[in-house]
Amino acid sequence: MKLSDPVTSVSRMTPIQQNALKNLGITTVRDLLFHFPTRYGDAARMTTIDSLLKGDTAVVYGKIEKLKTGKAFIKKIPMAEGTVNDDTGTVRCIWFNQPYIAKMIAEGALVRVEGKVSERNGNRSFLNPKIEAVASLPSAIGMSLFGEGSDDHHLYPVYPESRGISSNWFFHAIQKMLRLNLHESIQDPIPTEILKKYNLPSLATAIVWIHAPKKEDNALAARKRFSFEEIFFIQLEKQIAKREYEANHSYKIEKSYSDLKFLTDKFPFTLTAGQINAINGILDDFKKPRAMMRLLEGDVGSGKTAVAAAAAWATVSSRPPKQTFGALQVAYMAPTEILATQHFESFIKYFVGSGIQIALITSSGCRKFPSKVNPRSWTTISRAQLLKWVANGEIPVLVGTHSLIAESVKFKHLAFAVIDEQHRFGIRQRQKLIRKHPKVPHLLSMTATPIPRTLALTLYGDLDLTVLDEMPLGRKRPITEIVLPKDREATYEKIRLELKRGRQAYVICPRIDEPDPAKEGVLLARSVKAEGKMLQEKVFPEFKVGILHGKMKPAEKDAVMKEFNKGSIDVLCATSVVEVGVNVENATIIVIEGAERFGLSQLHQLRGRVIRGTHQPYCYIFSETASAKSVARLKSLVTARNGFELAEFDLQNRGAGELTGRIQWGVSDIAMEALKNLKMVEAARTEATRLALTDDWKEYPLLRARIEDTDKNKPIHFE
Ligand code: ADP
Ligand code: MG
Repeated sequence: MKLSDPVTSVSRMTPIQQNALKNLGITTVRDLLFHFPTRYGDAARMTTIDSLLKGDTAVVYGKIEKLKTGKAFIKKIPMAEGTVNDDTGTVRCIWFNQPYIAKMIAEGALVRVEGKVSERNGNRSFLNPKIEAVASLPSAIGMSLFGEGSDDHHLYPVYPESRGISSNWFFHAIQKMLRLNLHESIQDPIPTEILKKYNLPSLATAIVWIHAPKKEDNALAARKRFSFEEIFFIQLEKQIAKREYEANHSYKIEKSYSDLKFLTDKFPFTLTAGQINAINGILDDFKKPRAMMRLLEGDVGSGKTAVAAAAAWATVSSRPPKQTFGALQVAYMAPTEILATQHFESFIKYFVGSGIQIALITSSGCRKFPSKVNPRSWTTISRAQLLKWVANGEIPVLVGTHSLIAESVKFKHLAFAVIDEQHRFGIRQRQKLIRKHPKVPHLLSMTATPIPRTLALTLYGDLDLTVLDEMPLGRKRPITEIVLPKDREATYEKIRLELKRGRQAYVICPRIDEPDPAKEGVLLARSVKAEGKMLQEKVFPEFKVGILHGKMKPAEKDAVMKEFNKGSIDVLCATSVVEVGVNVENATIIVIEGAERFGLSQLHQLRGRVIRGTHQPYCYIFSETASAKSVARLKSLVTARNGFELAEFDLQNRGAGELTGRIQWGVSDIAMEALKNLKMVEAARTEATRLALTDDWKEYPLLRARIEDTDKNKPIHFE
């Protein structure tokens, strides 16, 4: 067997198993070796009964009582049931068609129960869980590998599963491969001197240690190595990119703040000191011959758009080199159509009267301002026409969604590119945006996602950072309340009062549709469609409730947003799509359903939607459970001073499996561990920077191969 052989050569497998492996991205023998356990023993999946969350797969230990057999109420299926209790609470267990279970286990026995948690009328239960009697309760309930005191003798690896393939299958397959010593032929991509310097195990050792640790230290060291590796390669790639980008010459834009008066006079507000500072930073970069790469980070509502607009104005009021006519061009990319359209409209307001043409490109069509017939408004134009005018430089400002980076979009003199909500895009999209037209543009990347420092150092290692840490004057801090199920009605009454005063509300739900109740293990979370209907019929019949979600057609979404903007919809029930930069000043209330399902930073972002105006904003976080742990987590939304604190909190308290880094940030769970460790991230950065700056990385064939390989496999986007 060779590492490059198909994974099917490891052992005989069913088509279902083959498919499951494919779903996990495992196609070769080598991939299998790199399928790492997420934890060891079952220590981490163990929880206390009070923190069971419906839909989760969990393991609890406790004493079983009230065992009995009977017939299920509806279909007369034979069943067994009992209750399990630990120090924190009681949970019911029900087995259909397995009445013998009640006879196998003794009343009052200590048991281990494993299964999916379901909920009915507020009561949690396990349906058909696995159950076994145990001699004693484990000492380290709820403690993960990285927590304190887990027992070494429980150290068997637990692998990420997929339907049709179990952790156990992986265990046996991988142990077999280890016995064949296949891992010893894999070459270590990390230079030996770096491993020595930081005391990290070699690749071959780490593979053994991660799959078959003799003691906890082995597993820890192996995980540390792999997380260092991932962080190191991300950094190396960023540092190389930074060096390459900086070698590019860009258009010089020689403007100072006072040259922007035409625009700043148009703003219906005075810029904050932070905004002016950010603008000046960009203007300084513009004067340099090398291309700018800057990240503008600022809480939702801190006014990043005005900064970008000012920089855009500096650009379009500059002539292309050696020309006495025309303008340098700006590309402004936003992640959603709603947002792109909103920016297009803001630019019209800001630039009107200047003679600058502005266009919008999305998958549902193109617009241009001004229209020939009415110089104060826009008109729709064909894509072909738009592309022509952008290519010959007649349209200086092009706002758009992903459509903006299509190969067919060519600029005559692209000098400045903006990415709004950059965390919603992938590297590859950014690279497409900043390709040469015919020089590379200066890049301004903007984000409201406050991210932990270690993550910023890693993911944005190639960018210079500007932080807008000041909110515009007159903004009120939102009043945030964590609402337990029993207080739901009272909260609706408070909201009713605000709606009567003419304010508007968002209600954010985790899902679009009601899940199919017949499907096992579905996420039983509130859905936009059902909740919207319920709110309209039962809670706010005197107001108009609208719904908005990602499966609606762009035109439908647009219509709903317009109505909400106008105020003819009072309550907008939506998925978190409104997370992104929607700007309705009169909407001062946000209700977030199923808050357990969101990260704190994400909740903070959502809350930011209602701090746009001058009225007192309210944020009601509806918790599905009253579990102490979950409420404490949510409470930090009330106490934290800013988004950065919440991001750190999220990182430190992230449970394995929940809100994984791959989804949110494009890094693996194992790298998330490294991100908790500033020292490790700094070490990786030091080494990466050194190798990139000296070009030494080119001397290591394996580093080179890896960098070239990641270039090919970069994620498209993280949404
Ligand atoms: P974000 O940083 O989240 O993108 P926006 O740029 O959308 O924020 O700005 C949010 C709102 O604040 C907009 O309505 C904008 O007009 C307003 N705004 C921006 N700067 C200021 C300021 N200096 N004073 C008052 N309001 C401002
Ligand atoms: Mg914004």
